[in-house]
Amino acid sequence: QFITFEGIDGAGKSTHIAYVIELIKQHGIEVVSTREPGGTPLGERLRDLALNEKMHLETEALLMFAARRENLAQVIEPALQRGDWVISDRFTDSSFAYQGGGRNLSLEKLNTLEKWVHPDVQPDLTLLFDVPLEVARERLDATRVQDKFEQEKADFFAAARAEYLRRAAEFPHRFQVIDSTRPIPEIREFLHQLISGLITR
Ligand code: C5P
Repeated sequence: QFITFEGIDGAGKSTHIAYVIELIKQHGIEVVSTREPGGTPLGERLRDLALNEKMHLETEALLMFAARRENLAQVIEPALQRGDWVISDRFTDSSFAYQGGGRNLSLEKLNTLEKWVHPDVQPDLTLLFDVPLEVARERLDATRVQDKFEQEKADFFAAARAEYLRRAAEFPHRFQVIDSTRPIPEIREFLHQLISGLITR
């Protein structure tokens, strides 16, 4: 199983990743976790460039997919071939949400890159942690160092969120949209049920 975690900054996905990894491990299943952009030594260098240097939007998108190509080759595909489960903090839906929705890169170009970089790999399950913008902002103000992306205007995040929700509607077979304003114990209980269901299937 290939499970991806998605959501705009401040949606609270990180809180739940460790919990899901533990749940899976408790069932004696090998699980490999990774993140994007990043996940490999080269990918982490590309992440640093993509997140901290000023660059053309298409350069940014290409770096995200370059890091992804490496992550697939080094981490994701070998793990899936071994029969391990893979948990990724972000994957291609992030490129659609941020570079596509947020920054207006054409979805057609993103589709082309997706077909090029991973024609045969798709997440089995994508957990989309969804919150209204005001909630995401409050959480970021409380917990995070602001970076280049977080300083962007609210309409950027609104557009990213809208693109996430559009994709969730387009690919309902793999998306689970989680209302991330719900209390953490409630979300954990939902995740517990969901993961148990996948394991006993
Ligand atoms: O999820 P995480 O906090 O690691 O994301 C790091 C940053 O990278 C976030 O600020 C996010 O907005 C940005 N990002 C992006 N485009 C992507 C993936 C992440 O702008 N495709």
